[in-house]
Amino acid sequence: MSELWVALSDIPADGREFSFADQSIWQDRWKEFGMNAAPGEKNLEANVTILPQGDEAALVRGTLKGSVKVPCDRCATPYEIEIDTSFDLYEELPAEGEEEEAEETRLRKNDNGVVELDMAALLWEELALALPIKPLCSDGCKGICPGCGRDLNTEECACPQDEGDPRLAVFRDLKIK
Ligand SMILES: [Zn+2]
Ligand SMILES: [Zn+2]
Repeated sequence: MSELWVALSDIPADGREFSFADQSIWQDRWKEFGMNAAPGEKNLEANVTILPQGDEAALVRGTLKGSVKVPCDRCATPYEIEIDTSFDLYEELPAEGEEEEAEETRLRKNDNGVVELDMAALLWEELALALPIKPLCSDGCKGICPGCGRDLNTEECACPQDEGDPRLAVFRDLKIK
């Protein structure tokens, strides 16, 4: 998996701008996490400013833009999602011995005592947050027929619609005496 550790000590106190466009940062992770995504028509690109806050914390601000393809939650057809998100994060190294209890942080002290930021993890999380929880190719997507598996957006099927309109169910059970 592509890694991208940025040492805070390499960044001047007034910050530095970075640009990340290596697609494997995102693609390696969506494969790793079993997410059903594919590259979109626009490459993903992040522009980030890292501002060290002392030796063990940093402000990380930036934007992530591009597109990815994910399957529609109803009909499973992959469709293009535009990504245009910005973020403003404060990352802090957990206190010694509290790494376990600490909230998710992307800063670590490596074996040489260098405090470094896991930019790949951060950029992956920003993409994951930018994606809809239930992606729909369109608001009116008809989905897949549970009976025959046809994509109802492109085909009709003859399966009985036995569910019917639930609001009418009350009338169906009425018996005329
Ligand atoms: Zn759909
Ligand atoms: Zn059907």
